[in-house]
Amino acid sequence: MLLDHRPQPAPLTSEGTAPVTVDVAIVGGGIVGLVVACGLIETGLRVAIVEALPQATAAKQAQAYAFSLASAQIFQGLGLWERVRSELEPFQKIHLSDCDWPDVVEFQPQEADRATDLGYVAAHTTLLTALQERVNQAPNLTWIGPATATVLDYGNEWAELTIAPNDPEASCPDRLRAKLVVAADGARSPLREAAGIPSRGFAYWQSCIVAAVKAEHHHQNIAYERFQTSGPFAILPLGDLCRLVWTAPHAEAAAMLNLDDDRFLQELSQRVGPQMGRLELVGRRYLFPVRLMQCDRYTAHRLALVGDAAHCCHPVGGQGLNMGIRDAAALVEVLQGAIARGEDLGQLSLLRRYDRWRRWGNWTILAFTDLLDRLFSTQFWPVVWVRRAGLAALKRIPPLKSFALKLMTGLLGKMPALGRMAL
Ligand SMILES: Cc1cc2nc3c(=O)[nH]c(=O)nc-3n(C[C@H](O)[C@H](O)[C@H](O)COP(=O)(O)OP(=O)(O)OC[C@H]3O[C@@H](n4cnc5c(N)ncnc54)[C@H](O)[C@@H]3O)c2cc1C
Repeated sequence: MLLDHRPQPAPLTSEGTAPVTVDVAIVGGGIVGLVVACGLIETGLRVAIVEALPQATAAKQAQAYAFSLASAQIFQGLGLWERVRSELEPFQKIHLSDCDWPDVVEFQPQEADRATDLGYVAAHTTLLTALQERVNQAPNLTWIGPATATVLDYGNEWAELTIAPNDPEASCPDRLRAKLVVAADGARSPLREAAGIPSRGFAYWQSCIVAAVKAEHHHQNIAYERFQTSGPFAILPLGDLCRLVWTAPHAEAAAMLNLDDDRFLQELSQRVGPQMGRLELVGRRYLFPVRLMQCDRYTAHRLALVGDAAHCCHPVGGQGLNMGIRDAAALVEVLQGAIARGEDLGQLSLLRRYDRWRRWGNWTILAFTDLLDRLFSTQFWPVVWVRRAGLAALKRIPPLKSFALKLMTGLLGKMPALGRMAL
């Protein structure tokens, strides 16, 4: 049975061939979609989440993320911080360096007005499992899946989705009607395409290799962002392992992926340097395409886009998921305001508040990560000179350093109410 009938105040109803009706339908049960769902629990709205994958499969991804202070605060606002905290790895320093240039910039928690941690590294499984558990316990949330949703129709009062089960054994409603549809369906977003929302962007000349290594020496809870001529290279601590996020031009990245383990580790050791000691590869290496994308608008009549459905960025600085979590929390706040004022949840004038709030904030991050990548991926000497002067300024001008740190930890700009309480 695909449609989970957990205890609900008012069960989803479908009479005859009439569609099932809810207040909000969320398409995509990834991390961003489920942050929206969990943020709406207290509102009492009837919410359905349609996800193409079974819950266990969606949670099993090997990915790990740099999880910002702002995202941690939003998880605290959702009441999930205590649940996930012990499984996250905190980092207390960030080292930023340009190839072998000796002027290393070291960020400390005090520069972000924090006592201890500057951020965390989180496994996808940890975050998604905690969110799924919360969704499964909430009486007003209904999980529909594994099933694929497409938008069938928009009326004045509702939007209607068609739902196709992805398991032949299973049954689920074939139509779902909602006042608002939230597209949290990832970078390829079928709902964004169906709504004809234009986007702009480009594929980078780089791909990204992700791998996990065990190092001879402990990582000391330091996150490294190293800018190499081929592209940014990040080392993130997670348990007794380190996660590598290594961007390089396509051909170089593909060649690295195809090296045998010993050759790959040799190449890696050259880039990491001696301070971590001997490295051992753990598990597979993965290759990801890298692109920048921003939608011209995040909303349409009865539709709101969140997370990768609305924007994608370069992995430098680990911003993509964190931006999506802030989108989700901002949308929840806008909807809570609408409920308090008795407004229609799907009306465009309301949704535009969310669009204005998040789209401009996300442009800043997209532009900043793009600038970082371009500045540091060249050996053209005037640019090298400018970036090294920039690093020197960052190191020596405390307000500049604090500004950059707050931008990357998500603490700059208007924080959604869910994330306003410091940890
Ligand atoms: C190499 C790499 C490293 C990264 N590192 C970081 C990092 O350190 N920190 C960070 O913040 N971000 C990072 N990111 C970005 C991050 O991975 C994404 O921004 C994030 O996963 C997007 O989450 P989402 O929930 O918006 O989309 P997704 O995770 O793509 O979820 C979309 C969900 O929608 C479902 N779906 C799609 N279509 C349908 C449909 N029609 N019907 C039903 N369900 C549907 C899918 O099955 C999926 O579960 C990285 C990205 C890459 C490539």
